Amino acid sequence: MSDLYRYLRQQRERYGESLYLESEIFRAAELAAQGLTDTGGEVTEAWKTATTLVELNDLICECRKCPLADTRNKFVFGVGNPQADVVLIGEAPGADEDRQGEPFVGRAGKLLNKILEAVDFKREDVFIGNILKCRPPNNRDPLPGEVEQCEPYLHKQLEVLQPKVILALGRIAAQTLLRSKDSLTKLRTSVHEYQGIPLVVTYHPAALLRNPNWKRPTWEDVQKFRKLYDELTENGK
Ligand code: SF4
Repeated sequence: MSDLYRYLRQQRERYGESLYLESEIFRAAELAAQGLTDTGGEVTEAWKTATTLVELNDLICECRKCPLADTRNKFVFGVGNPQADVVLIGEAPGADEDRQGEPFVGRAGKLLNKILEAVDFKREDVFIGNILKCRPPNNRDPLPGEVEQCEPYLHKQLEVLQPKVILALGRIAAQTLLRSKDSLTKLRTSVHEYQGIPLVVTYHPAALLRNPNWKRPTWEDVQKFRKLYDELTENGK
C-alpha cells in the first residue's frame, strides 16, 4: 500500500467521505493500491504476482492493452475448475462468448461439451480459455500485436493452474500457440509442448458444425488426448 493511499485513507476516516472520497487523487491512489491505474482501467504489472485465478481475473478484467477493449462487450477470462489438470485453449471469444463473458458457449460450446463427455471429461472438471480475452470484430483472426499483448495472461493462467495436458482447439489456436505455419492436418499428427506442457491439436468445434466430416478425426484426436492424460496421471507426473 503506498504512503499516499494510506495518508488519504486516514484523512477520509478522520474527516468523512465528503472531503477526499470524490477527489481524483484518492481514486488514483486507491486503484494503484489494487494494482490498477486510473487510466480507464489500464492494467499494471501487479497481475504477474497473482497466485489464484480469481485474483488474476480481478487484476486483468479491465485490461485495455490492445484496441479490442474498445469493441468488446465482455472480457472473457475463461471458465472451469481452478484445480484442472486439463486445459482447452481456443483462439478468441466469438459473438456468443462476447455477450455472455464465457468461452465456448452456444452451439459450438454444446458440441465441445459432448466431445469432452465422449472421452469421460466433464466441462466443470477442465478449464477452458482462449488466447485472446476479448473478441476480434467480425471474428477475424487475432493480430500479432493482440497476441503479443494478451498471451502473457494465458501464460499466467497456466502457471497458476499447472495442468498436465493442453488441447488446442482449431488451426489458429494451434498455429499461434506453437508459432507454426504448418497445417492443422500436420499439427494434429504429433504431441507438442507449450510452456513445457504436452499439447494435442484438434479441430475447433465451430469447424465441425460447418464440416461434419471432421468429426471422425476429432474423435481420434480426443481419444489420443485422453490416453495421454491417463498415462501422465497414472505415472503421477
Ligand atoms: S484482448 Fe487481451 S490484451 Fe487486448 S484488451 Fe483484451 S485482455 Fe487486454
